[in-house]
Amino acid sequence: MVLLGAHVSASGGVSNAPLNGKNLGCTAIQLFSKNQRQWSAPPLSDDETAAYFTNLKASGIVSVVAHDTYLINLGSPDTEMREKSLHAVIDEIKRANKLKLNGIVFHPGSHMGAGDAQGIRFVVSSLNRAVDETPDCTAPILIETTAGQGTNLGHTFEHIRDMLAGVKDKSRFGVCYDTCHTFCAGYDIRTAETYKATMEKFNSIIGLSNLKCIHMNDTDYELGSKKDRHQNIGKGVIGKAAFGFFMNDPRFQNVPKILETPGGDEWYARDLKTLKGLMKTKVKAKVRKPKQNA
Ligand SMILES: [Zn+2]
Repeated sequence: MVLLGAHVSASGGVSNAPLNGKNLGCTAIQLFSKNQRQWSAPPLSDDETAAYFTNLKASGIVSVVAHDTYLINLGSPDTEMREKSLHAVIDEIKRANKLKLNGIVFHPGSHMGAGDAQGIRFVVSSLNRAVDETPDCTAPILIETTAGQGTNLGHTFEHIRDMLAGVKDKSRFGVCYDTCHTFCAGYDIRTAETYKATMEKFNSIIGLSNLKCIHMNDTDYELGSKKDRHQNIGKGVIGKAAFGFFMNDPRFQNVPKILETPGGDEWYARDLKTLKGLMKTKVKAKVRKPKQNA
C-alpha cells in the first residue's frame, strides 16, 4: 500500500481529521492537534480521543503525523520565547502520544540574528529537555527541512545533521523532507540526475534511514530562492517528473507522502490523482521558468 495523503482539517476536533482524510482517499494524513496559531489549547478530552480512534479505524488510514504550532521557536536567543516554545513542544508531544501518532513534524525555528551555530545549540538543548520531560512518549519528532527564509534554521542538510547529532535519544527523532522547502533552499530534484544526486547527498549527510515523512509540494519560486510558497503538483517550477521520482522510489515505499498544497479539498483530490498517476506513467523532466519577483 502506498502511504499517500494530505494535511487535512481537524476543525471541530481531531476526530474529524480521519473522516476528512477518508473522503479524499488518503492512506496517510497530517493534522494540527490544536489551533496552529495559538500557544495553548485545552487538553484532548477522553471522548474526543475515543471518537478519533473510532473514526481512524473506519477510515483505512494507516499513518498519521501532527504538524507543530507555527509560533514555536526553540532556536530563539530570547530565553522567555524559548521556554514558552519548549512548553508548547512538550504539549504537542503529549497530544501526539495520546493519539498514538506516527510522528510530530517540527519546524526547527530561527536564530533571530544569533547565528546558525548558536541557534542549533538552542534547538538541541531544548529538544533534549522536551524528550527528558516526556519519557513515556514514543512518537518521533520529525525535524522538517526548511526553505531558509530570514534566519530560519534547517535549510541545509548539515543543519539537520548537527541537530540529530546533538540530541541524546536518537530513537525519538527523524526527518521530514519538504520538496518545496529543499528546492527553494537549493537542492534540485527536477531531473533523474539531480534527484539522484540530492538523495545521495541527503544519505551521506543525514542518512536516508532517518527520513520518516515527505511533504509533497510544488513551488512557484526558483531553485535557491529561499522563499516558502507551496504550489499544486505540476503547476510550479519543480514539475511532475520530480514527484514521480519520489512516488516510484522503492526506498520510500513505507514513508508517508503528504500534500500541503493550496486550494482545499478540490485541489487535494486533483493532486492526489496526479501523484497516483505518476506511479504508472513516467513524465519527462522539463525545466520551467520561475516567477521573477515577490
Ligand atoms: Zn512542509
